[in-house]
Amino acid sequence: MSYQALYRKYRPGTFADVKGQEAIVTTLKNQLMSGRVGHAYLFCGTRGTGKTTVAKILAKALNCENLTDDGPCCECDRCRSIEDGSSMNVVEIDGASNNGVADVRQIVEEVSYAPIDGGKKVYIIDEVHMLTDSAFNALLKTLEEPPEYMTFILATTDPQKVLPTIQSRCQRYDFKRISVDTIVERLRDLLEREGVSAEDRALNYIARVADGSLRDALSLLEECISYYFKQELTFEKVLDVVGSVDQGIYHSLTIAVVEG
Ligand SMILES: [Zn+2]
Repeated sequence: MSYQALYRKYRPGTFADVKGQEAIVTTLKNQLMSGRVGHAYLFCGTRGTGKTTVAKILAKALNCENLTDDGPCCECDRCRSIEDGSSMNVVEIDGASNNGVADVRQIVEEVSYAPIDGGKKVYIIDEVHMLTDSAFNALLKTLEEPPEYMTFILATTDPQKVLPTIQSRCQRYDFKRISVDTIVERLRDLLEREGVSAEDRALNYIARVADGSLRDALSLLEECISYYFKQELTFEKVLDVVGSVDQGIYHSLTIAVVEG
């Protein structure tokens, strides 16, 4: 099997696996169960807090053939095709590199065709604040009167840059920074599955440096366990790897953690 980054390998596939965003997950599950899912969402929050992960789970839930109280089954054909990126119903777009009017017009054109398999279309536009004003305006009408099979999920790290007229047409969800305890718990869980042992202090330090971003924590963890392959991960080893990334940024934090 080809190598997969930890962050991808253990990306949550179900709502139950999403850590640190309980209020959002509960609300979305309730909407799914009551059939009241919206046509436009705005997911806001700092990087690595689960915005696109939750967006993809919601997309699966909207298409799943065996939806349960806990969300998508992840086993039916539709769930699988969304998971492996082959589904025609679910499209992920990077707003940073598709930010012009022509890009948005193409999206608007595409969403006018109903899904052939009777499922729901979900367009996830990441970094949506990168869209130009004219691109936002081209999207407005579709957001205002979307086809009934359509759900837009707009994700951004910088909601202030999203036009107010766009914001007012979306249900807004603010993703919290993930707590140190929750990150440590997740790291511990993944390391067990990878068969690597680690000191609590080592994981605690990684979680603090990651500053609320689970994705950053997983990247740091990955650097550490790749460097010290098959060895126990100690605090000193983490300092050695993380410290070497950028002494300046981590210096004060190191002191705080050591003294704390
Ligand atoms: Zn399914």
